[in-house]
Amino acid sequence: MSKILSLVIVGFGGMGSYHVQLIEGNQNIKVSGVYDIADERQQAASQLGFKTYPNLEAVLQDSTVDAILIATPNDVHKEIAIKALEAGKHVVCEKPVTINSRDLLDIIDVAKNHDRVFMVHQNRRWDEDFVIIKDMYDHHKVGEVFHLESRVQGANGIPGDWRHLQAHGGGMVLDWGVHLLDQLLFMVKGKITSVTANLSFALGDEVDDGFISYITFENGVTAVIEVGTTNYVKLPRWYIKGTEGTALIQDWDLSGERVNRNQSAEKSEPKPIRAGQGLTKTMAPPSESATIRYPIEKVETKMESFYDNFVAVIRGKSEPIVKNEEVYRVLVLIEAIFKAAETNEVVKDFDVLNHTLD
Ligand code: NAD
Repeated sequence: MSKILSLVIVGFGGMGSYHVQLIEGNQNIKVSGVYDIADERQQAASQLGFKTYPNLEAVLQDSTVDAILIATPNDVHKEIAIKALEAGKHVVCEKPVTINSRDLLDIIDVAKNHDRVFMVHQNRRWDEDFVIIKDMYDHHKVGEVFHLESRVQGANGIPGDWRHLQAHGGGMVLDWGVHLLDQLLFMVKGKITSVTANLSFALGDEVDDGFISYITFENGVTAVIEVGTTNYVKLPRWYIKGTEGTALIQDWDLSGERVNRNQSAEKSEPKPIRAGQGLTKTMAPPSESATIRYPIEKVETKMESFYDNFVAVIRGKSEPIVKNEEVYRVLVLIEAIFKAAETNEVVKDFDVLNHTLD
């Protein structure tokens, strides 16, 4: 029986405290303590019965601690990760891992040199809506997917304090964009050929409050990725088009449908419909017999949970589900999005867009 690994949470705000729930009940890893620079968060941790440490150094000097979770604002992930890895701790780091790709390379070097596991919590690879869309993509449930749109839209502006500031790695490209782009690259394996992007500054912050990016892949797939925080009416979470059908998932409640061409239906000329001030055959809905409608159904993911995987990687029993080279690719894509938005040009330098770790 292997020992239960002990993990200290560094940064006990919204997400740091959520990791307590993620780890709860895990037979192989437990939360043994907390360190947060804010007194009130230290007190909140004490009240929950966690040991608190007076500073990061005290965490790192504690030989009973095997791993740390970094859930601080984004700008200090790198510094904390490097110190922890150098002290011999394994590290889980919240997304976005760093605010540029160079900083991630520095962390990966230290992790390699100290033979420690460094994994980024790209938890939305386990989201049910994404698992369903990826299953449709992988198993050609709408034929070959040639276009997809992935969006999250809210109307509450940018939440909290540090997310409004560039110095802390704020803004929606880094906050939500990193999730949607990670999902995209986890699903569409081809190389990227071009990126265009527009950032939105509707709230008047120094960081983007949303963005739209159009990404094309060498295999012909095109993707629209959109994040908004000023959307009082929302577009669907997912919209994918394939050679045999179209699917739409409205929201995290998984409402939506998949509609496929009925291959056995006899071809018939569509009847024109009245549309606005004109007539159209092109935009007339297909007849009932020409299509088959399917509800959106849950798909069981075969992936281990994030923390089961983290422990298995530490014990040499699994490959990481979230690989650092994948996280690096996403940061490279984020940099292309910032460049495309800033220059108002299409970024299509193939080598830059597809730079990998090796
Ligand atoms: P938050 O502001 O709620 O919490 C951050 C905490 O870190 C605060 O309690 C703050 O006092 C503490 N802190 C700041 N600097 C510190 C330091 N140097 N050392 C120790 N503690 C420090 O922010 P949040 O929403 O919890 O976000 C934290 C991280 O989690 C961010 O990287 C964010 O992107 C990520 N996050 C991930 C998800 C996800 O779904 N994976 C969701 C939300 C947030």
